[in-house]
Amino acid sequence: MRLDDFDYSDVLYALNELRQDFIYEKIPKEKIPSILEMSLEVGQKNGMKYRHTDIKEAIKNANINVLFSDKSGTFFKTRYRAQMELSDKKRQIIIYRPSIKEFLDLVHKQQINVLSENEIIRIHLAHEFFHFIEVDTDQKVNELVGNIKYREGLFSHHSTILKTSEIGAHMFAKTALGLSTFPTYYDFQYLIGKGMMTNQSFDEYLHDLDDELKHIMNIQHVLN
Ligand SMILES: [Zn+2]
Repeated sequence: MRLDDFDYSDVLYALNELRQDFIYEKIPKEKIPSILEMSLEVGQKNGMKYRHTDIKEAIKNANINVLFSDKSGTFFKTRYRAQMELSDKKRQIIIYRPSIKEFLDLVHKQQINVLSENEIIRIHLAHEFFHFIEVDTDQKVNELVGNIKYREGLFSHHSTILKTSEIGAHMFAKTALGLSTFPTYYDFQYLIGKGMMTNQSFDEYLHDLDDELKHIMNIQHVLN
């Protein structure tokens, strides 16, 4: 599969995710297309297997418990809508209802009833389920993509790119649930609803992202 085979907006949102990785600046630009491609592909391939299965059933069959919590899901300043708990004794996904509700309210400030509560919960369940699949199949996306080596001062480091796993999880949710858009789109709608971004700054951001993606693709074409 090639990067061109994916919806352009999926690639764009995948790049948005990658840009938020703490080692993004250390990744050689010419490697980015194949990193995006691999991450999207793992998510999509796994997602295809669940297209005709109810995601709640699939989670149950994988021995994962779903807990609906009335806690806010706030951890320091980050407000979680869902989390996974995985240990020798526990396989659980927690859905924080108040955070889901706040999210929905703000998304709906932008677009009326674009998603139901059930749909938004399914997106979060699918996302977390993908992280279980990564562990259960011993195929974590960040490990498949591999290490990035870089120097900082006198020291050389190597690190995996954790955000590749997030790209996989979003693409998994999109594919398994047959969503029309990459789930990150709703995060932006939420930020706009919250007043942390305007529609205009969102458009500008997408435009910048698009420029960056085209620039990166050009580097790759020149190299090939
Ligand atoms: Zn995740």
